[in-house]
Amino acid sequence: MITFSKILDINNFVKKQREDGKTIGFVPTMGALHQGHLDLMTRAKQENDLLVVSIFVNPIQFNNPNDLDKYPRDLVADIEMLEDIGCDILFVPSVTEMYPKKVAKEYSFGQLETVMEGASRPGHFNGVAIVVSKLFDITLPHKAYFGEKDFQQLAIISKLVEIENIPVEIIPCPTIRETDGLAMSSRNKRLTIEQRNAAPTIYKLLKLTKENSKSNTPNILKQQLIDKFNSYKNFDLEYFEFADDKDLQPINSWNSASGIIAFVVVKLGEIRLIDNIRII
Ligand code: AMP
Repeated sequence: MITFSKILDINNFVKKQREDGKTIGFVPTMGALHQGHLDLMTRAKQENDLLVVSIFVNPIQFNNPNDLDKYPRDLVADIEMLEDIGCDILFVPSVTEMYPKKVAKEYSFGQLETVMEGASRPGHFNGVAIVVSKLFDITLPHKAYFGEKDFQQLAIISKLVEIENIPVEIIPCPTIRETDGLAMSSRNKRLTIEQRNAAPTIYKLLKLTKENSKSNTPNILKQQLIDKFNSYKNFDLEYFEFADDKDLQPINSWNSASGIIAFVVVKLGEIRLIDNIRII
């Protein structure tokens, strides 16, 4: 694996690879890698000549400074995992390398950014779009891989590529879970034992939602789920929503969209866990 920290160096390298006819699969991450990340990478490796991974904890997508401060970082373990799966190129830039000056860009993603994560975390998606667009410019991928765990982020990135005409194919990848159902996340490392034991209930309730979806209207079911989440003392429910899988707007009837997803964010102490399940 070749590791780069300078934009110019990796950019020259990938340009040369493209000239030589090599295809590039790219997986952007914030590190503290787990099997969810590795699945995206394994797929990218299978579908391209070269796997490029970035590790960069992007400060401008954190609307909560405490969350940024405490975000897990473990570059030594990450590099070992990347070597094991045969990653070809790692990009680990510093904050000043990525942002020598303050970034003023303001994207507009319309109604995609007014709901759920967009509403709960002001500026978050703009920060994500700025870094991902920059990373695409730097790594010049043919295909880039994103997890459906962060479904709204995936929708935002697809929109970004569309509005900016970026020549990259976005590949959605399914959520990878622990054996007890908890969606893998770097933030899981910060859970106390008690919180970790409680956390699989999030996915249990999502599965229950899917099973019961035909027996009630979305609004009744949503209220039942909110009551259920609130009945667990460890859980502080931030939102629960049934939404159209295309425009991410809330739905009122099971017939109002061809694809419907249940989205949830629960806080356990100060750890914010996100998950979703496809209903239709
Ligand atoms: P992050 O390091 O959290 O920014 O995540 C980097 C990429 O990995 C994003 O596209 C995430 O959606 C994806 N990802 C994170 N956790 C999982 C998971 N459990 N299953 C699938 N993809 C994931």
